[in-house]
Amino acid sequence: MPEGLEAEIWRTAIEVTVGRTITDAYVDERVAPPGFVSAVRDLRITAVRRAGKVVLIDTDGPTIGLHFGMTGRVVVDGSAPIERLSYASGRDEAEWNRLLLWTGPPDRPAAVRFNDPRRFGHVSLDPDLSGLGPDMFVVTPSELRAVLARRRTSIKAVLLDQHVVAGLGNLCVDEVLWWAGIAPHRAGENVTVEEARRLVTVMRRRLRVMLRRGGSTTGVIDPRVRAELPHCSRDGAPLRRAQIGNRTTVWCAAHQR
Ligand SMILES: [Zn+2]
Repeated sequence: MPEGLEAEIWRTAIEVTVGRTITDAYVDERVAPPGFVSAVRDLRITAVRRAGKVVLIDTDGPTIGLHFGMTGRVVVDGSAPIERLSYASGRDEAEWNRLLLWTGPPDRPAAVRFNDPRRFGHVSLDPDLSGLGPDMFVVTPSELRAVLARRRTSIKAVLLDQHVVAGLGNLCVDEVLWWAGIAPHRAGENVTVEEARRLVTVMRRRLRVMLRRGGSTTGVIDPRVRAELPHCSRDGAPLRRAQIGNRTTVWCAAHQR
């Protein structure tokens, strides 16, 4: 599934449209609010932001929200910033287009094309994002520790909760826990101040590395690993896999405590 890192890659790509005017739009009405096309036509794009896993296209009117669901992706000016997601098929069918924004003649590729085979994603106008926690790149150790101290659920589940930290998904949570040496099933309240600090340090560093490499599938706990489960690249112990926080979780029982 697309995580905050994928949203950040798409946000960066869509920035090229800042200053352009939306000349026309198409939307799959099943995934957008009523009247969407007439609401966005002739708007000028002023900025492109990200809030957690959501990309926000600011205009001189309402803000357009792109919510990627499980298989959503973005193509900008006819080229895809992330060519193929490991969790999506390599195909690209026109019938999967959920949103098209043109900023020029209709015979040119759309400036922004939101393609989503499984249609779990959606498009919004002025989305309410007040429930989101601090972003994964800026959350502080004290903010994280304050939330963890009140949670008896696993740290894996807590980190996946977008109200706690916005932007983290399944792969990135496994990745930062692996680097921080913290077991995913540990109760949030048992995570020490020192561990919360280490977790935030690791999160900022490793997420930047994965962003440069191309997204949430480029970590050490790689999704390809999930089929075969080789050994931990740090200590050679066999990696383990279980459902934690309702998600398939991979970790090393030797160095994650
Ligand atoms: Zn290990």
